[in-house]
Amino acid sequence: MSNRTAITVDDLTVAYNYKPVLWDIDLVVPEGVLMAIVGPNGAGKSTLIKSILGIIKPIAGSITVFDKPYKKQYDLVAYVPQKGSVDWDFPTTALDVVMMGTYGSLGWIKRPGKKQKKAALEALEKVGMLAFKSRQISQLSGGQQQRIFLARALVQNASIYLMDEPFQGVDATTEKAIINILKELRKSGKTVVVVHHDLQTVPEYFDWVTFLNVKKIATGPVKDIFNDDNLTKTYGINYKVSVQQ
Ligand code: ADP
Repeated sequence: MSNRTAITVDDLTVAYNYKPVLWDIDLVVPEGVLMAIVGPNGAGKSTLIKSILGIIKPIAGSITVFDKPYKKQYDLVAYVPQKGSVDWDFPTTALDVVMMGTYGSLGWIKRPGKKQKKAALEALEKVGMLAFKSRQISQLSGGQQQRIFLARALVQNASIYLMDEPFQGVDATTEKAIINILKELRKSGKTVVVVHHDLQTVPEYFDWVTFLNVKKIATGPVKDIFNDDNLTKTYGINYKVSVQQ
């Protein structure tokens, strides 16, 4: 972990149709952490990710990425959306989708060339999807599409990775493959923020955690704050999770 701050959220309030779904959030994500965002359904986890990406406009507050607005830093941020949230109504191969991840590093007009293709193929290999490179993306299973999105994020060579429930509905092998890649990213100094549902795996997978339920309940190192007290505050009455740390 460095001393830099990857993401700073300041007094953030977000509402849909005047109903606040995030309330006065202050959050500092240090560079180099592998952080889970946990909280019940409807806690605002996806909304927080979308706010960082500038997809949703807050009614109050601000967010910076390495001390500048996201608009100036978008090339430093890779995003893996929730599984099933993208409709593929046009024909695109798995390789095409991964190649799209390289576009940010190319200037106007330039088309991806050999170097980009090589990077895309390497990323497909890394996520175990090389054999599917020519398959239409719409003809892959949800878990396989998730791996393709991860490969696309990898070729972006970003500093910050935002992922919305990457383990949702994937099999155990895919889950292991994804977590190994996330740990590798952290090892190389990247910051990884993951909306996560399975509380049992938090201590094994992550070193940092944010508890969210409309308000920020707590944020910090897993070993210090992943406890029944914060789980109960976030999920309601007497929440207990038996975890081995
Ligand atoms: P989480 O990811 O923690 O499940 P979300 O950020 O998806 O929560 O949603 C937070 C709240 O905002 C929920 O009550 C949800 O119903 C509501 N919400 C999410 N997206 C929209 C939208 N586009 N329009 C209106 N309400 C929304």
